[in-house]
Order: sequence, then C-alpha cells, then structure tokens
Amino acid sequence: MTEPAVEPAEVLLELRGLVAGYAGVAVVRDLSLTVAAGEVVALLGPNGAGKTTTLVTVSALLPPIGGEVVVLGEAVGPRTRPHRLARRGVAHVPEDRALFSQLTVRENLVVGRARRQPVPLDQVLDYFPALEALLDRQAGLLSGGEQQMLALARALVRRPRLLLVDEMSLGLAPVIVERLVPVVRRIADDLGAGVLLVEQHVAVALHVADRAYVLNHGEVVAEGPAADLAADPSLLAASYLGPDAT
Ligand code: ATP
Repeated sequence: MTEPAVEPAEVLLELRGLVAGYAGVAVVRDLSLTVAAGEVVALLGPNGAGKTTTLVTVSALLPPIGGEVVVLGEAVGPRTRPHRLARRGVAHVPEDRALFSQLTVRENLVVGRARRQPVPLDQVLDYFPALEALLDRQAGLLSGGEQQMLALARALVRRPRLLLVDEMSLGLAPVIVERLVPVVRRIADDLGAGVLLVEQHVAVALHVADRAYVLNHGEVVAEGPAADLAADPSLLAASYLGPDAT
C-alpha cells in the first residue's frame, strides 16, 4: 500500500541572497531563508547583527539593495507598498510596538482589524485573557508586558498569514517573556500562519521555534532545526554575544 502524499507546506517567505541596509550600505549580506505556513522560524544574533533590518526589508519598509525577497508569492522591490503587503496578510509587530497610545485597548484592536474575516474579539482574548479587564484602558497607560500583549493581539485580529515579530521581550521581565513568546507558536498552529521571530531570549525562542537562523555581522553563521541549535551551548553563547564569545 502506498502512503498518501503529504503536501509540503506553502512557503510564505523566501529570501534569496538578500542584501539589505541603509543608503546603499549593506548591513545584511547574502541572507537566504524560508518561512512556511504553520512554521515558527527564529532569527537570532547579537545586537547590531541585522535582525531588525531583515524584518523591515521583508515588510517593504526598507527597499532591498540586492537579492530576492518573495512574500506570499510576490516579489518585493523598491516600489512595493508596505500597506499592500499588510492587506495581503503580512503583520509586522515592531520593536517599539507602535500602538495608538491615546486610544483604548478595544479601539486599538478595532483599528487593527482585517477587512475580511477578522479574528473575533472573544477569540483574541482567549489568547490574551489579561487584556479583557483592560479593554477600556488607554493603551499608553498599560505596563510594558500589557502593551506587548496588545501589540501581538492587534496583529492577531488581522488574521495574519505571515507574522513578523521584532524582539517582543524588550524590557520585559523573564517571567512575562516565558508567557508571551509561546503565543506565537499557538498563532502558527491555530491559524497556519508563518512566523519570523526575532528574539534576544534565545532559549525561549528556540523552545517555540521549528527552525532558526543565527546572524552575525549581517551574515548567517548557523542555521538548522531549533532543537539541534538549542542542544549546542556554544551556539547559544554566540547568538547572544557573537562568535568571539566561545
Ligand atoms: P538589535 O538586537 O540591537 O536590535 P539588530 O540585529 O536588530 O540589533 P539592526 O537594527 O538590524 O540590528 O542593525 C544592523 C546594523 O544597521 C547596525 O550596525 C545598525 O547600527 C545599523 N542601522 C540600523 N538602522 C539604521 C539606519 N536607520 N541607518 C543606518 N544604519 C542603521
């Protein structure tokens, strides 16, 4: 008896030899990477490695200098408009969270909603139960952890196909990080979204990720299944501090 063929998951993001940077100066070089539907891929590396630069290039906030960026089957170039990608299902949670601080939690979620098939509010609150009591509070008055929950929740209501998350743990206590990061795993599992996760808490990131890439000085220095990378302590040190750390 022949086994039924398993369809490979759809590739939602493909970078081929990406060169990215500012004013023509490359800070990311020759980066090749994929993210498939339902997959969480961690992008690790020390400060200044080029992680944020990669994410802003993927969401078309920064034009690529070279190589190929294919998002949801569409080539991204200097003329790609970020809002068009957002409409097609790319959600980017930036490092600074970019909330509407004068609006309430509820209003932030309504503003962020997808035009078609938004994830209903009660379903979003199931991922972030702590937000329920805060729905009428101004976003600017929330704690750092609550703001980060809201930033992720706002991405979730859009029913993202490709979710880009930039260092959500910045400034948060480790206990909050351990609670928050696994939510991206649930989003990938439940919605079939692909997630590219930039995270300084390497152990937590590798725990939820399927695969990981480690960048240093804008180049990939390691890649592979998250479990393999997590089992290599020298690699963990390099991800935090650079390859000279070991
Ligand atoms: P971190 O973990 O500190 O956020 P990162 O891996 O996200 O680091 P990037 O923010 O992508 O790194 O920065 C990569 C390099 O690009 C750094 O050397 C940084 O100084 C430089 N850089 C970042 N933003 C700009 C900019 N707007 N103009 C010029 N250079 C920049």
